[in-house]
Formats: sequence, C-alpha cells, structure tokens
Amino acid sequence: MSLISRAELNGARRVVVKVGSSSISGENAGKIDSLVDALAQAHARGTEVVLVSSGAIATGMPYLRLDERPTDLATQQAAAAVGQNVLVYRYQDALRQYGIVAGQVLLTAGDFDDPTHRSNARRAMERLLGLRILPIVNENDTVATHEIRFGDNDRLAALVSRLIGADALVLLSDIACLYTRPPSEPGARPIEKVAFDDDLSAYEFGATVVNSVGTGGAATKASAARLAAEGGVAALVTSIDLASDVLAGADVGTWFEANPAPILPQGTGAIGVA
Ligand code: GLU
Repeated sequence: MSLISRAELNGARRVVVKVGSSSISGENAGKIDSLVDALAQAHARGTEVVLVSSGAIATGMPYLRLDERPTDLATQQAAAAVGQNVLVYRYQDALRQYGIVAGQVLLTAGDFDDPTHRSNARRAMERLLGLRILPIVNENDTVATHEIRFGDNDRLAALVSRLIGADALVLLSDIACLYTRPPSEPGARPIEKVAFDDDLSAYEFGATVVNSVGTGGAATKASAARLAAEGGVAALVTSIDLASDVLAGADVGTWFEANPAPILPQGTGAIGVA
C-alpha cells in the first residue's frame, strides 16, 4: 500500500470498493450497470479493483417469494444462498462487455483471525488480481452472520482492504458524504476530511440503520473507514451515483486519511463494530 490523496485515486494501484444492499437490489438493481462501468474504467487505467458487495439476501428475497427482509437468521441465510449466485451473475453479465472476468470470494471475519485462512485468502486474492480478474467478495452467510447483523459488509470490506494492502477503500451507499450529525437535524455539516488521529467522538453518526433490505448506516461506515485508515488504507465514504467520479479522483465524499505509520495487527484488529 502507499499513502495517496483523494485526487490520486485516479491512478491508485489497488482499490477496494464496497457497495451496500439497498444500492444494487430491488428498484436499484439497474445501478449495477453504472457501478460496473465505473469499476471497468478504473480497471482500464491499470488499477487493481476488488468489489465487496452485499445484497445477497435482498437479491434472493423475490426468489423465496418474500416481500420483506426475513427476520429470522435461517431464512436470511437461505435468501443469501439463493441471492448470492444471482448477484454474481448480474455482475458478470455487466462486466462481459469489458472483457473482465469476476471471481467470487466468500469470507468470514473469523477467517482473518485464523493465520492459515488469512494467508490462503490473501494468496488467492493476490493471484486473482495478478490475473486481472475482479474479485467480488461477500460474507459467507451460510456459516457466518456477523455482517448480516451489523454493518452490511462495511467492516468486512475494511478487513479485506487491510489484508491485501489496498491504497484505498471506497464505501458506497446512498449518501454523498458523512455529516457531523444526522443530515435531517439542524446544524448538520458535511465532513470533508478526517485526519487519521482526529477524535470522532464529537460527531453523531446515529444508530445502525436496519432497513427493508440491509443493515448499516453512517456509524458502521465511519467505524469501517477508521479501521481501514488505522491499518494504513485511506478510506472514502460517498454515494454509488458518484462512483465513477470518485474513482477518477474527484473531490467528493468524506476522506479518511490513512495512518502513515500503521501497526498492522494480525486478524480483525482492535476496533469493534459500531
Ligand atoms: N452478506 C449479507 C448480504 O449480502 C449482508 C447484508 C445484509 O445485512 O443484508 O446480503
């Protein structure tokens, strides 16, 4: 990894992009095409791109004739098992026009704590990237449920970005940037930049959001961005609609500067999920 600025995302060597369930499923399933366009542009510039995508449960719901997100874990897992391959098919279908091949990688947070699993995952990802394949990562929902319960893969994406020494982690959702307090509240101001040693306790990111398709929210994004930045990976929080701009180095979103002297812990790191 190397320390880059927001503008240098344009020529980054390696970037992890994370997208949440609600951005690419249901009525937003069509956004997969524009997201893939943005990823393909970065790929064409020579950037190694890893996509961490949620949305397995949300994509599987109609196949199980579910109108709402199931509340019990077993049905969530069943929906994820059905939805995951549909989701990867949709990505591959959109990537085909660019001649890019996707590789599915399913991981659990526990894999990062097991030295053998950890090094196996890193080696496989390195080889995929060396082969110019675009890895698409999700939590392995049939054996792990951490990201179903907390964070919609935000934390998993931070762990992946550290594992492979990415230059940056881009967390895409439906907000253009983080705010000093929930944007619906008076006095909320956009946060443009967070220095690696800034105290975040002055900000009110609100509770973890659980909506009809996924879980997450500003708090889990800030926590994941911090986890990446502490490990030496700069992080950017912005909207999926700005994916192409942001990967081209536009001055948008909330930028978390990377710690210039990271102490890289083995495993999942010291910071928990918000
Ligand atoms: N791994 C889950 C999925 O892809 C996480 C998202 C969620 O909490 O709904 O569906």
